[in-house]
Amino acid sequence: MARYSGAQCRICRRELMKLFLKGDRCYTEKCAVERRQYPPGQHGQRRGKLSDYGIQLREKQKVRNSYGVLERQFRRSFFEAGRRKGVTGEVLLQLMETRLDNVVYRMGFAPNRTSARQLICHGHFLVNDREVNIPSCRIVKGDTVTVKEGSRKIPLITDSIEKAEQRGIPSWVEVSFQNFTGKVAAIPEREEIQMPAQEQLIVELYSK
Ligand code: SF4
Repeated sequence: MARYSGAQCRICRRELMKLFLKGDRCYTEKCAVERRQYPPGQHGQRRGKLSDYGIQLREKQKVRNSYGVLERQFRRSFFEAGRRKGVTGEVLLQLMETRLDNVVYRMGFAPNRTSARQLICHGHFLVNDREVNIPSCRIVKGDTVTVKEGSRKIPLITDSIEKAEQRGIPSWVEVSFQNFTGKVAAIPEREEIQMPAQEQLIVELYSK
């Protein structure tokens, strides 16, 4: 399974914005965006104005990297969004939000999507009482996600649950930390998706 394995903070610095890819560190003054507010690389401080294409590309990269998916998978999701009912950009974000790794992160069982992905691959979660170890598995309204009984003492999970309130649980998921379980109460609307992006620019980029 392919994934990006480079520096996470570099992605945020490239977009000049906190994307909260690391978890706890993102909420401290050690955050790289706060310390160096210019793009990475030798010429990072010298970059000029972006073209229209550049603006669209950056918007797409920001969303894609936030969810931790590679280009091919993201593009496939875009075309799937185009085939579905609704506004393509919004549907694309809904498809990204309802990936299992994102749902686990949003429910507070993992500090970030990368850890969520790893925990899922190692078989620590059940979806509707069946073990699922595919991070891109699509979750639908009414599905439940539970931490397996034998995995409930994993420090990554317990620490994340402790700090989940601080990060905030979105309104479209219902979580019971006592039972280590959560339910997708609804498919999120655009205003419920915490993604600072103009999805219309992604649609324009891929429609060229
Ligand atoms: Fe981004 Fe978090 Fe790194 Fe800050 S600490 S640059 S928010 S990944």
